Amino acid sequence: MKDTNASMNQEATPIRTVLAFIGVGSNIGNRLLFCQKAVAAFRANPVIKVRQISSLYETEPVDYLNQGSFYNAVIGIETSFSPERLLQYCQHIEQEMGKKIEIPKGPRTLDLDLLFYGERIMTCPELTLPHPEAVHRLFVLIPLAEIAPHWIHPQRACSIETLLQHFEPDRFKDVEKRFELGWETSEAQGMAS
Ligand code: AMP
Repeated sequence: MKDTNASMNQEATPIRTVLAFIGVGSNIGNRLLFCQKAVAAFRANPVIKVRQISSLYETEPVDYLNQGSFYNAVIGIETSFSPERLLQYCQHIEQEMGKKIEIPKGPRTLDLDLLFYGERIMTCPELTLPHPEAVHRLFVLIPLAEIAPHWIHPQRACSIETLLQHFEPDRFKDVEKRFELGWETSEAQGMAS
């Protein structure tokens, strides 16, 4: 009887999941490996399902220019974590990869940005959604457009594809596809750093 009730309760309260997009970046050490480990850490969490992964791009730094180029990708996940809990998990992964920021916007082993959490809009000291810089960064929009071109930015009310059209063609050269999908698997190791 107890078991029956338990299963009925589960049916009555399905777990709500949300589609979220996370920006992955690295510009110190074995950049490919750090990005691969980030994907593996999301995959290892039972509360997260990795649904989409973009190609891996090599990109010129922005804001603080005196640093090496980045590897960047965007992944789409489904999760029942709250946005705050998801950010915490991202920060936990960053710490595991030894993230230490000595210069603001400077070099980092691994950077994880919560770009979108469904259509949620929020501004808190610790978390702003959508990520306020996402619309200005081609290293975010290009990989995101690869996996979710029709995703609507809830504040701009237009698609990622449309946001991309606002950039001068000349700027696209700073974001170069380096690895096709599959880069996140261990077989890709040793291809580059
Ligand atoms: P950074 O080290 O430059 O990536 O900045 C990390 C800081 O940005 C952390 O203190 C976060 O709490 C804050 N932050 C605010 N909004 C976001 C977001 N959407 N994704 C990731 N970090 C965020």
